[in-house]
Amino acid sequence: MSIDPQQVPIPQPFQSIYLEGLFTHCVDCECDLLDSNVPYTVVKHVVGQEPVFEMALCLECAANLRSQYSVETQQRLNEFLEQAQRREPGPAPDDQGDDFTWEDGIAACFSCGKPRKDCRRYELAGVCLNQDLIVQAPTDLGFTTPFLLCDDCNEQVSKLISRQTRDAWDRFMEEHFDGPPGVELDSPRFDPILI
Ligand SMILES: [Zn+2]
Ligand SMILES: [Zn+2]
Repeated sequence: MSIDPQQVPIPQPFQSIYLEGLFTHCVDCECDLLDSNVPYTVVKHVVGQEPVFEMALCLECAANLRSQYSVETQQRLNEFLEQAQRREPGPAPDDQGDDFTWEDGIAACFSCGKPRKDCRRYELAGVCLNQDLIVQAPTDLGFTTPFLLCDDCNEQVSKLISRQTRDAWDRFMEEHFDGPPGVELDSPRFDPILI
């Protein structure tokens, strides 16, 4: 049985703090995100209540970035994700996912189930299409969006990542985030596992 993804107008957590509204362009190829029917991922890194990093990356650029990851890393990440998806639903189990909302998606870490209020640092990610956020409950096969990954799990993921992958990611970050406003340079390292 498959659960069809829903779409909702992009809620505030997946809007740009810097732009004070929706993300408008891909950080990499700068394509128009709001009008081009290209899915894109919004990623934020939050410390306390403060987003310290944000970006929107289109599907094509995400695929391009992932293709630079080592095969080993991709395998390990896939295993990690499969395990995470198999986790029993956390504190607020929903019936068959019918009632899954974007709020559910970011209420707790998708990997370990730690509630957001207990996370000092975490990563948020969601897949958007034009002006909408896609809401997809965790399923056996598919991915879930939006989701939250806690700092502990992020650290675990960091350990799965090969040198080659790390270098590819660091290059990407240097290229795009060499001190633009809204990005805290001493913010903790994190890794983009699902972009
Ligand atoms: Zn792009
Ligand atoms: Zn976690």
